[in-house]
Amino acid sequence: MTLRGRPACPCLVQWLPVYEAELLRRGVIQFNIDIFQLIGNAPASAGVHSKGGAFDIGQTQREAVEVARQMGADATWARTTGAFASNRHTHGVLRDCPHNGPARYQIDAVDAGFNGLGREGRGGPDDGPRPLSGRTWREGIEWARRQQAAYHWFQPGDLGSAESGSALGVRKSFGDLLDPTVVVGSNATSEGGGIRRRSILRARVVTTPPRKRLSFPVAAGHAPPPRAPKARSAFMTKLAKVPARFKGGDMNVSGPLAARLTGRRVVGDGVLWMTVPRLGWEVLSTVAVDVGGDHKAVLARMRHKKTGVVVRILVINAMSVSAGAAKSSEILAAGLALKPHVVLASECADFRAVDVDAIHRNQEKP
Ligand SMILES: [Zn+2]
Ligand SMILES: [Zn+2]
Repeated sequence: MTLRGRPACPCLVQWLPVYEAELLRRGVIQFNIDIFQLIGNAPASAGVHSKGGAFDIGQTQREAVEVARQMGADATWARTTGAFASNRHTHGVLRDCPHNGPARYQIDAVDAGFNGLGREGRGGPDDGPRPLSGRTWREGIEWARRQQAAYHWFQPGDLGSAESGSALGVRKSFGDLLDPTVVVGSNATSEGGGIRRRSILRARVVTTPPRKRLSFPVAAGHAPPPRAPKARSAFMTKLAKVPARFKGGDMNVSGPLAARLTGRRVVGDGVLWMTVPRLGWEVLSTVAVDVGGDHKAVLARMRHKKTGVVVRILVINAMSVSAGAAKSSEILAAGLALKPHVVLASECADFRAVDVDAIHRNQEKP
């Protein structure tokens, strides 16, 4: 396995491009990192690079070391002085890489406060930025993706669990999500052949200055399907009681019926809709997003009358990753390309791990 023509272990192949993207985003580098050695036997490395998990790059900025440490390579040091003055580079080791055996003593060394040089890597005190992250390289990739994402996401639970079936998002440039809460909408039931528990997510959206201050509650959910009418009715009753200005998702109930049930205005497409307050807000326009699958998204532009603030809210039903990764990726990319300020999402695409801009660029699967 190689990365840019150099032998590498699979962990490095996954990790280094994400590390590079994070340095680019921060402006630490302009184009790319300069890779000197991955798996190799440079005499100066004394076998540390012989199996994998270790890298040598040309970037020696303190922030480059700091980002590597945050991303699960705590054993990273800029080697720029003494014997390294004529061979300046940054050397790092991924934590939890199964291929890093010959370099692992350096992770123990940094954990104990040493610099990874000399006997057992304890030749001198650690000179890198602390505190250490303690993250594994995989956790480090997740951390970086969260930094790189354009949105704050609230999506509790593991992917595929009841809680992960919905998500709320706020564009970081617009504001923040406060007080995120999970409400049980309907319990798991054997009705209709078995339906998992369905949750309703609540949070408050708060705009950041210099925008006029706006704070309003939102909720997202996904009601059980028609073959489980009791569970669906329990869910709708619970949703109606949730105090939120905007609430929506794939509700398995048509919009007009929803308008009757909730007494609110409803905008959307079929069973995918959101409620809109009758007072205080006006709907400027709506755009339906259809990429040819059976799942859709609708963006509504709303104006808050008192402050004049315009808010773009997307209600989206992404497909589960396993059921339709390609269509899920398409609907996510198309919906989020409209740069919504607020996202009310149903279904179980993994929003937390999604670097949406990267999906758009690379056509990757979330
Ligand atoms: Zn590895
Ligand atoms: Zn090295």
